[in-house]
Amino acid sequence: MMNLLITGGAGFIGSNLIRHVIDKPEIAKLVNLDCLTYAGHLENLEGIHATHPRYLFEQVDLRNQNEVTRVIRQHDITHVMHLAAESHVDRSITAPGDFITTNIKGTFYLLQSCRAHWFNPASSIQDPASRFLHVSTDEVFGSLSPDAPAFTEATPCAPNSPYSASKAASDMLVRSYHHTYGLPAMITRCSNNYGPYQFPEKLIPVAIQSILARQPVPVYGDGMNVRDWLHVADHCEALWTVLTQGVPGETYNIGGCNEHANLHLVQQLCDIIDDLQPALGGNSRSLITFVPDRPGHDRRYAMDAAKLTFELGWRPAHTVETGLRETVEWYVQHQDWVKSVTASPTH
Ligand code: NAD
Repeated sequence: MMNLLITGGAGFIGSNLIRHVIDKPEIAKLVNLDCLTYAGHLENLEGIHATHPRYLFEQVDLRNQNEVTRVIRQHDITHVMHLAAESHVDRSITAPGDFITTNIKGTFYLLQSCRAHWFNPASSIQDPASRFLHVSTDEVFGSLSPDAPAFTEATPCAPNSPYSASKAASDMLVRSYHHTYGLPAMITRCSNNYGPYQFPEKLIPVAIQSILARQPVPVYGDGMNVRDWLHVADHCEALWTVLTQGVPGETYNIGGCNEHANLHLVQQLCDIIDDLQPALGGNSRSLITFVPDRPGHDRRYAMDAAKLTFELGWRPAHTVETGLRETVEWYVQHQDWVKSVTASPTH
């Protein structure tokens, strides 16, 4: 049985992950550690927070080492899924400081606390049972040329933004804790996620909100930056698969084999909304507006997830076509959620 700690459980992927795993029979208790930045909202956990018998919330900043250590000890944590991070590339360009302290120092404190708890001879935890899963990103690999093969687990890291550099640094720390101390750690690197509860600062929710409001839909540069898109539910299932079946010391790529240029993705969103909401007047593509490119914008990412498929049997269940439509429907039906999470002064 697991005493599972999920960090960043009030964010986009973390809250989807908590919904995905909370009723798994392997879990005795699930502790959500989150300090609730502008991106973290307990509204994302409606129906679980404060009501689910196995769920506990700790409002703790990862950068507070004593508090992180207290949480690991107090809840006798056996398994960690580490998602808490500053995650928005644009914010890392204008204000990189929090990316360094949360993503690097915060990961260091978490590793130290797990090491102290799991390797303490007085601890009730049997070392082979514990697992540390570090959730990382394809962005650590840098940019691919149009015809280059997809990133594999052997591709060297070449991060290009303060966000991806901070994630790559945290990956290296996790790797070193396995190699040096034998911490049973694994790393996953996933492509771009989409789905419900994504904070309206990332491409898909920004585009949906702009189209619904009949406002210009911003697209960076020429719109030809390519990303590999994966539904968040498929990412969550991949994370559970790696936590329960992955081999400590290994890294696993996660991707959807769904490469789309940003412009084509936004055009699909326009067409879906024209179809679902004819009262808006149609021709949403005319709202697309090209804006100056993000500095250092990576041109293309693509993930080869063959290792995860062949070794652990994971496959994505969603296609972009069905997943995008479901996501648009979710945002149309959850405009109160959008208003609530964007109301804070730090947004
Ligand atoms: P998010 O920004 O939606 O959520 C991050 C969460 O972390 C928030 O709830 C926030 O309050 C919390 N947090 C931030 N700083 C903290 C701190 N110092 N202490 C405690 N909590 C803190 O991010 P997301 O999109 O859900 O991404 C989750 C993880 O997955 C990140 O590590 C990210 O790098 C990785 N990832 C994201 C994607 C994607 O497409 N969104 C793709 C691959 C990997």
